[in-house]
Amino acid sequence: MRKPMVAGNWKMNNTISDTKKLIDALVLDIGQIADVDVVVCPSFISLAVAKRQSEGSLIRVGAQNLYWKDAGAFTGEVSPMMVRDVCDFVIIGHSERRTLFGETDEGVNQKVKAALAVGLAPIVCVGETLSENQAGLTGEVVSRQVREGLKELTPEQGAALVIAYEPVWAIGTGLAATPEGANEVHRDVIHPILREMFGETVGNGMRILYGGSVTAANAAELFGQSDIDGGLVGGASLKVDAFTAIVRAAL
Ligand code: PEP
Repeated sequence: MRKPMVAGNWKMNNTISDTKKLIDALVLDIGQIADVDVVVCPSFISLAVAKRQSEGSLIRVGAQNLYWKDAGAFTGEVSPMMVRDVCDFVIIGHSERRTLFGETDEGVNQKVKAALAVGLAPIVCVGETLSENQAGLTGEVVSRQVREGLKELTPEQGAALVIAYEPVWAIGTGLAATPEGANEVHRDVIHPILREMFGETVGNGMRILYGGSVTAANAAELFGQSDIDGGLVGGASLKVDAFTAIVRAAL
């Protein structure tokens, strides 16, 4: 049985004081939920306050990105060890990183390896664009992203990470994939590749989150599918009521 997980990707939203308020409210409401892994991913600048305010609760903190080098002359970047100081998780390869900042599958792979090397659990994002979807390329694109992004990992490393299937056309559009359509990609494309790469047991045990316009209204049906193990939530993770309802839908 895979433990459900709900992660909130706050993207470039919330100041330090907004972060404090939002985390305080989440801690009060869902801070002791043990049957769902609840993760919040604020911007780098708010990670420390998120960590401090969530102490004593079961809410965990993740970053939205990192750089794969240990240290040095990389102005503006944040190293895996710096992220590890305050986080348990890190989102890698989000579609906004891929489309707006030119991240490649190879770069995703370097980041995944660097994160794992310091004990961070990567949440590795994959997903096809609208034109790829319309051209019938979903399986091909997602397979490539999974295979390349997780290249050369051991089964032990595979077991430590989480995949997030996020069709690009569903992110921030209000147009979520259908539960059956998303589940088909999880069950028929991603899980078989994970089993092939890491073996039956590890592959079956690896969690695949769905992301793309998850709301309080559609979460239960999405999470009720056989191979959808929770969600990576953008817009709705910024609102206490919506996010807590989504977390409860994963119970
Ligand atoms: C995301 O940013 O990963 C995301 C899924 O956003 P939204 O829930 O707003 O579609």
